[in-house]
Amino acid sequence: METIKNIPDTNISAQDDMNIEDRPVRQRKPDWIRVKAPTSKGFAETKKLMRELNLNTVCEEAACPNIGECWTKKHATVMILGDVCTRACAFCNVKTGMPRIVDPKEPQHTADAAAAMGLEHIVVTSVDRDDLPDGGASQFVKVIEALRRTTPNTTIEILTPDFRNKSEAAVEAIVTARPDVYNHNLETIPRLYPTIRPGARYYASIRLLESVKRLDPSIFTKSGMMMGLGETRLEVHQVMDDMRSANIDFLTLGQYLQPTPKHAKVEEFVTPAAFDAYAAIGRAKGFELVASSPLTRSSYHAGDDFAKLRDARNAKLAKASAG
Ligand code: SF4
Repeated sequence: METIKNIPDTNISAQDDMNIEDRPVRQRKPDWIRVKAPTSKGFAETKKLMRELNLNTVCEEAACPNIGECWTKKHATVMILGDVCTRACAFCNVKTGMPRIVDPKEPQHTADAAAAMGLEHIVVTSVDRDDLPDGGASQFVKVIEALRRTTPNTTIEILTPDFRNKSEAAVEAIVTARPDVYNHNLETIPRLYPTIRPGARYYASIRLLESVKRLDPSIFTKSGMMMGLGETRLEVHQVMDDMRSANIDFLTLGQYLQPTPKHAKVEEFVTPAAFDAYAAIGRAKGFELVASSPLTRSSYHAGDDFAKLRDARNAKLAKASAG
């Protein structure tokens, strides 16, 4: 799942009927995290379209702080395979439980949304579907195929679950469908997996990304981490090294925000200067691109970043052929 987990300060729904003194204390955010409430016309239009096409978005499900900015610009990250996840990660706001059947119209509806919004680049993610034999991989393939048919000029970025305990063939099928960017988030450092991401295995996630690159080196690979969960600087550097050993092209780092008081606490609000320092280290370690700031999310400015990745690769190829 995507690393975007925040609920606006005004949202006290589940806590409304508690006595004030019984309510868990909500952590105060520093000024650099605050964002404006979404009110624009573009925001309302994006919302209407998603409802009409019966599509879920991670922007809403995870209560992403960037929703006002992104939806105003008609950027939304579609969340396929329903809105109920089979895992219960300590950082994630998406509902957990027994998911509903897979919607056969979802691939075409996703493509229709991309066409209606005139998207140059689309990001598609999903909940974890451990209940499905292929973890939902075939639905990703159908979405990619529908997009290629309907909006052939839209570049496609997918953000998948780890497909843990599913066959290699699940990931191979997605790679064969050739998304432009394959993203899978490591989310945090390995030491914190048992508490933050208990259903996942750090090295299985690294291997997934490594195999995507091995199967098709032309697909850009991308991964991200949430900061502020108790990781140390050296542990973050080690994760960067592990990512580079899997040839991951693009790193995203953003501040973890506690979605509700029941979720994992924010241990630290990492300063913008510290995010800049991580970006410099990441570039020195060889990532083609690093996006690192408090409000960075996997899909934030994804279209612009894809264009930068493509330009960087083309520049390298041109240099190599000239030399
Ligand atoms: S950053 Fe991603 S998830 Fe958040 S609103 Fe923008 S597109 Fe949606």
